[in-house]
Amino acid sequence: MDRQYDRRKHRNGEVNLVRMSSYDNRVSRGGGGRRRRRRAKNSAILLAFSLFLIVSCMGALYYVMRLEARENMSDIEVDGTVDQQTGTVLGKTPERDEDAVPEREEPTTTGIPQGEKIPLVAIDAGHGGVDGGSDRKGVLEKEVNLEIAERLAEKLEDLGFEVLMIREDNDTFITKQDRAAKANEAGADVYISVHQNTYEEQDNEVSGVETYYCEDTEGSKRFAELVHTGVVTATGARDRNLRETDGLYVVREANMPSCLVECSYLTNKKEREAIVTQEYQDKLAEGMAEGIYKFFYGDEQ
Ligand SMILES: [Zn+2]
Repeated sequence: MDRQYDRRKHRNGEVNLVRMSSYDNRVSRGGGGRRRRRRAKNSAILLAFSLFLIVSCMGALYYVMRLEARENMSDIEVDGTVDQQTGTVLGKTPERDEDAVPEREEPTTTGIPQGEKIPLVAIDAGHGGVDGGSDRKGVLEKEVNLEIAERLAEKLEDLGFEVLMIREDNDTFITKQDRAAKANEAGADVYISVHQNTYEEQDNEVSGVETYYCEDTEGSKRFAELVHTGVVTATGARDRNLRETDGLYVVREANMPSCLVECSYLTNKKEREAIVTQEYQDKLAEGMAEGIYKFFYGDEQ
C-alpha cells in the first residue's frame, strides 16, 4: 500500500503535494506511520462513535421531553373541554372540577315560606277502639288508617306544617261528634279523614280512590280536589272521582276545608295486599301531603 501510495505520489503532482503535506512525517518514518495511521483511524472511529452516542442521547432526551410536554398538553385539553361545558376557567386539580359542577336546585315543594303563618292540619285516622272499620282477610281498616295517618303527619311536619292527630292509637274509640269538635276547637286550617273502602262481595274487581267533601264549607271542594289528584297521581290507582256529599258527618261539621279519602278497596285482592305495605302507604301519604301543600302554596291559589 505504501508503495502504491508513493508511486501515485510521483505520478500525480497536485494531489500528491497535498497528501505529502498531510502524511509527510508518516511517509518518511515507514512502519511507525502505519501504526499512527491505524491509531488515527481508530481515533476517528472512536470520535465518530462518541459523537453518535452524544447525538443519540440528546435525541432521546429531546424525544422524552417532547412526550412529557405533549402529556401536559393533553391534560390541559381535557380540562379545557370541561371549561367549555361549564363556561368557567378550571385548573387541573380534581377539587376545582368538582367545584364547577352546579349544585342541584332545591325541590320547589319543600318548606313553608318564611314569615307565613304555619297551617295546622287535622289528620283523622278513621274508626278506632271497638270500631275496627272494615275487616278483610286479616286486614283491619282502623290499623291501616292509623299507619297512613302517621306517615302523612311525618311528611307534613317535614314540610313545616303543624299537625293535630285526632286519633293517636288503635285502642281509643272516638265518636264522629268528638272528631269534628276536636278539629274545630284546635282551630285547624284543614281537616283530612283517612279511610279504606269495601264492596259488597269478597274479592271484587272494584278498586281505586274516592274523595268526599261537603260543598257547604268554603274551600272544601278545592281542598278535596287537590288531595284526590295528589293521591291518584302518586299511587297510580284507579280514579273513582271526587264526590260531593252532605251525608258524612265529619266533613260536614268540620268548620274548615275538609275531605275524606277512601284510599283503597279492601275487597280487592291487589289493593288489599298493597295497602299493608310501607311502600304503598308512603305513596298515599306523599300524594296527600302534596295536595295539602298545593292548597296553601300552589300556583292556582
Ligand atoms: Zn272507614
